[in-house]
Amino acid sequence: MIRNIIGIFFFNSIVVFSQISPQSKKITQKYFQDPDIVMKTPGILKKRGYTNYEDLINFLDKHKKSNPSFFKYNFIGESQKGKKVPLIDISNNSKKRKIKVWIQGGLHGDEPASTECVLYFIDQLMTNNLFLLENIHFQIIPMANIDGYLKFDRYAANGLDLNRDQTKLEIKESLFLKASFSKFSPHVALDMHEYTSYRRDFVNFGSFGVTNPNDVMFLYSGNLNVPKEIRNMTENIFVKNAKKKLEELNYRSHDYFSSTKVKNEIQFKQGSIHSRSSATSYALSNCIASLIEIRGKQIGKTSFKRRINSGYTVIMSYVNDSYDNYYKLLEFFDVQNNVIGDSVVVVSSPKNIVQDIDMIDVASTDMIKINLKTMNALESSPKLSRKSPTAYLIKKTNFKIIQKLKILGLKIDSLSKSQELNVESFKVIKYDKKDFKYEGADIQTVNTILNPEIKQFNKGDYIIYTDQKKINLAVEVLEPEALNSFVYFSIIKTNPNQIIPIYRYYEKNKLF
Ligand SMILES: [Zn+2]
Repeated sequence: MIRNIIGIFFFNSIVVFSQISPQSKKITQKYFQDPDIVMKTPGILKKRGYTNYEDLINFLDKHKKSNPSFFKYNFIGESQKGKKVPLIDISNNSKKRKIKVWIQGGLHGDEPASTECVLYFIDQLMTNNLFLLENIHFQIIPMANIDGYLKFDRYAANGLDLNRDQTKLEIKESLFLKASFSKFSPHVALDMHEYTSYRRDFVNFGSFGVTNPNDVMFLYSGNLNVPKEIRNMTENIFVKNAKKKLEELNYRSHDYFSSTKVKNEIQFKQGSIHSRSSATSYALSNCIASLIEIRGKQIGKTSFKRRINSGYTVIMSYVNDSYDNYYKLLEFFDVQNNVIGDSVVVVSSPKNIVQDIDMIDVASTDMIKINLKTMNALESSPKLSRKSPTAYLIKKTNFKIIQKLKILGLKIDSLSKSQELNVESFKVIKYDKKDFKYEGADIQTVNTILNPEIKQFNKGDYIIYTDQKKINLAVEVLEPEALNSFVYFSIIKTNPNQIIPIYRYYEKNKLF
């Protein structure tokens, strides 16, 4: 009797997750066979475990030794546990202008194919594809979160998520990762990840749940402050061609979607508008960017070669598109320095759509269609917009904000003398402090009104002109209602009826 009760209890809660494996041998055989390719990356060459720190450095030294003029690496900072993080620079050093391509893996430490596919790409580039260096300069970080990677843990050593810290910049590693990204200022950027194909919420579909069949999902930005041409080019050239290349290998792909439970109801979301995560943060800094989710988390080394090849295929496709569109991209980015429109979008809302999505029924192993209500961020519409200022002004006492803006790649000027200026300030008319922390930060949400005033500014106060390349990233952190703003994360603390110490300046003449 007791046994039966335990049996039933386990059957309902745990068995679904353990005995009916998210990827049984039958499912692997039917849908996720490894390709017949020779790969010589450290994680493939060892039977157990993944690429460790020593393997990584040996791998880099080997390439440096065989190609000392093209292949260099240096350390950009130390992880919290004191491991030096390598950044690889691959270039033929010619004077010709290049398309700059940034590739990153291992930002989450429990997604091993994200590092391994980057290493495989490096192997392939250095042995068979050096011609790409005619048009492309690469900077590559294969293991961004080393402490996490060595423990097989998603998070940095302090338990925080590096891919929720792209704008608040409160984790040690974020500072040097972002500073390197900003300094390189790439035209094209890829951040490689792996996703969980069998989510708790999926138990409600099929007879014993369903698993996501997509070898790759593409997460790119629907944020309305990303210039439309960049969003179009990302989707219609880079994502589209990579999907085609995957299809040629009979690999499945889809735009990224995920599920969350809101008040006991499962909701699906597609696309990204959040600058706290890499795809949108990169895109807002005026770059063609995607976060690539490979199907693989929580299945050990099952289908490892296929996962590596999936990621590699996407990287190679983006790189070939960069090479083939050399003139088009350079011409496009040359006129792309003044990127702010007449107005900026502060808050937007995604479009509700209904779509059929293919899933594998875990019990029958059949491919079935499930009908999903999805909030699609790729088709967002503005909810709150404001006229663009010619500059934001910040008092020199708010140095912490300025430091973060500099790491985000913003050019900061300062007043050469004290003066009175016509500006608008943000006055808080509605304030809410949440009773939970998000990723270590206190959360405040506000509504503000713009308040015209004549304000005294001092010599040395900061000016952020809006006619600069990465200004859309500044809009995202400075406009108080924005979802990832410095106010939202309590980096600027405020209260009801207070003035937020960020001022909007509209006159056309430059300040001095
Ligand atoms: Zn990830």
